[in-house]
Amino acid sequence: MKRLAILGSTGSIGTQALEVVAAHPDLFEVEVLSAHSNASLLIEQAKKFKPNAVVVTNEAKYKEVKEALLMLPIKVFSGNDSLNEVVQWQAIDTVLGAILGFAGLSSILAAIDAGKRIALANKETLVVAGELVMQRAREKGVAVIPVDSEHSAIFQCMVGEDLNAVEKMILTASGGPFLGRKPNYLVNVKASHAIQHPNWSMGAKISIDSATLMNKGLEMIEAKWLFGLRNEQVEVVIHPQSIIHSMVQFTDGSVKAQLGLPDMKLPIQYALAFPKRIANTYKRLDFKDFSKLTFEAPDYKTFRNLAIAKDVMFKGGNAPCVMNAANEMVVNAFLQNKVGFLEMSDMIEKTLDQVPFIEQPALDDFRESDAEARNCAVEFIKKSQLSMY
Ligand code: NDP
Ligand code: MG
Repeated sequence: MKRLAILGSTGSIGTQALEVVAAHPDLFEVEVLSAHSNASLLIEQAKKFKPNAVVVTNEAKYKEVKEALLMLPIKVFSGNDSLNEVVQWQAIDTVLGAILGFAGLSSILAAIDAGKRIALANKETLVVAGELVMQRAREKGVAVIPVDSEHSAIFQCMVGEDLNAVEKMILTASGGPFLGRKPNYLVNVKASHAIQHPNWSMGAKISIDSATLMNKGLEMIEAKWLFGLRNEQVEVVIHPQSIIHSMVQFTDGSVKAQLGLPDMKLPIQYALAFPKRIANTYKRLDFKDFSKLTFEAPDYKTFRNLAIAKDVMFKGGNAPCVMNAANEMVVNAFLQNKVGFLEMSDMIEKTLDQVPFIEQPALDDFRESDAEARNCAVEFIKKSQLSMY
């Protein structure tokens, strides 16, 4: 029986993780749930899964959650500091990091410090501070098991293999809803269209990141830190069917791939149960339904976010942190129709130009760079709105 803390339980990954848990009550028990603002769903989940504690990080929601759970033996906490304490509780074996964005970093570090096994969905954590996070995990002897489907695929390909025998890792990308489109089309696309991913059902932010290919850029950096790669060893190929979830090429030229239907419950389940595989009855991949699996090079010129992310991966330091913060802000603005699709890349680039580069940032530097980049991006967003009128 594994006792879980599910951070971000009200999100796309969090709710799917709870589906996995509900299907295997003999294997998993929920010790802690955390959410930010969706109090009603958190309350519903708490009543169903009866965790020892829930944390609602948005303090304005504390009263609502506390009152609703008053008659149940469930502790209710609020705020980020509480979350960082609760994830260290002795009863927890595994922490699923499914909070969105930079906000997920500190609880993951706290969980690592307490020696908890990490199932990591929150890729921004590794994008911002991958070196620091993985270094701490090594020091504490903590396993970080990826939930992101590409990294789960690579992780599965790496079982029984030696990192020294890896030539490169190839991340597959569907290409998103605008595959093959050019800037003259993209300039007018709206959030309602961009959010509709052809193969995966995901949260709003990552859906936009998939449309701009920033998601694949973030995943390159995530792979670098997670697997300890040199920048040159990370490659991206467009594979619109999302059946091959990623690949590893070895020094003898052999390539291993992991395949399956696109369903996030599979990598979630794998990460939670690792090293076991759990039997399930999810729909199986039937090769006869996919007579063609195709591959092509990404269009770095049109989808500039991928080029920007690749650049900051090579640059290192606080550059990925700054890019990530700017991206979180502009995606949020795009979702509210405040900036255009192509403008997002301009604003990320300008933010990178403006925030001072730090070659070897410490944790506090990341916090400062993140805040500075957000402020900077907000200014660009405001200016863009003004120019619309
Ligand atoms: P969602 O937006 O669906 O959910 C985000 C979760 O994080 C919610 O529970 C939300 O709480 C919580 N949250 C948001 N902001 C904060 C904050 N400031 N402090 C604490 N908690 C917060 O996102 P996804 O589930 O799509 O993604 C979660 C992470 O997993 C991301 O890092 C994403 O890149 C990664 N991922 C997601 C995949 C997917 O298929 N969805 C695939 C691979 C990776 P509330 O709703 O209560 O406000
Ligand atoms: Mg992914």
